[in-house]
Amino acid sequence: MTAPALSLRHLQVDFATRRGTLHAIDDVSFDIARGEILGVVGESGAGKTVTGLAVIGLIDPPGRISGGEVHLSGQRIDNLAPEAMRAVRGRRIGMIFQDPLTSLDPLYRVGDQLVETIRTHTTLSATAARRRAIDLLAEVGITAPDRRIDGYPHEFSGGMRQRVVIALALCAEPELIIADEPTTALDVSVQAQIITLLKRLAREHGTAVMLVTHDMGVIAEIADRVAVMYAGRLAEIGPVRDVVRQPLHPYTRGLMGAIPTLDGVGARLIQIPGAMPRLTAIPSGCAFHPRCPLAFERCRHQRPEPRIAARQAVACHLHDEPPTEDPAP
Ligand code: SF4
Repeated sequence: MTAPALSLRHLQVDFATRRGTLHAIDDVSFDIARGEILGVVGESGAGKTVTGLAVIGLIDPPGRISGGEVHLSGQRIDNLAPEAMRAVRGRRIGMIFQDPLTSLDPLYRVGDQLVETIRTHTTLSATAARRRAIDLLAEVGITAPDRRIDGYPHEFSGGMRQRVVIALALCAEPELIIADEPTTALDVSVQAQIITLLKRLAREHGTAVMLVTHDMGVIAEIADRVAVMYAGRLAEIGPVRDVVRQPLHPYTRGLMGAIPTLDGVGARLIQIPGAMPRLTAIPSGCAFHPRCPLAFERCRHQRPEPRIAARQAVACHLHDEPPTEDPAP
């Protein structure tokens, strides 16, 4: 059996502060297979971006991976030396961020940036690398790529810049792409194009994608599976169809209210009262209990662990086996 492109096992990320150690990521485990898109969703502060940064080894002090393991295609990478991790980041893991200008240097032509990246990670000559860069620009939907390759980033629209960043991420044929809110800054119609593009490229290149977003609608469009995070932990994970159709965790049910339907019919506008807790004040027991309409006594003092229920895994006492307490009505 081939190893998953990405495997997290009991990942723990802590931040040392004057008030003590804060757990930003607490015992998170999941896999992403080759060619699979895993959506990681949750409100701001859920830990989804920190999870992505942990995978690519970019947690800045005073944060650190304090436990667990990260494996890329079967190789453990969380314990690599900084230099070795830098090479993994460029070659084996591609990155796409919300703002394309995070990845593009405004002072260099996009072609120079693509050619340099290709030549860093391959043995192609300058001419062959330029040819490859033009092919990549064409593949991500840039028209007249042999002319646009000599343009500067500011000469591209936001959506086109994000396409260039996707081409940049693909330069070294990575095993994994981490895309953090890649469409949030774009117009709705452009968002749909970028989503379609990412989905097609993941399929065609066999690249695993970890898509970090707060937007359940984007996840429903593109992802094969979805991991819902809350207060640094996994609340629910499973095939996107199952989680969207039959969310098991009360927090996921609340997030589902954020998916509009095209005709408005069937849109569920459930508001989740309250806000994501700060890392300094994670509630005891189930961290969601102060906001949960179904909380009962056990939720306040016992932390639920992820359990398989239907085709999902869910961390909620409502799905404990066997039930020993009735939930409050
Ligand atoms: Fe709600 Fe309790 Fe389930 Fe947490 S464990 S989501 S508080 S029912």
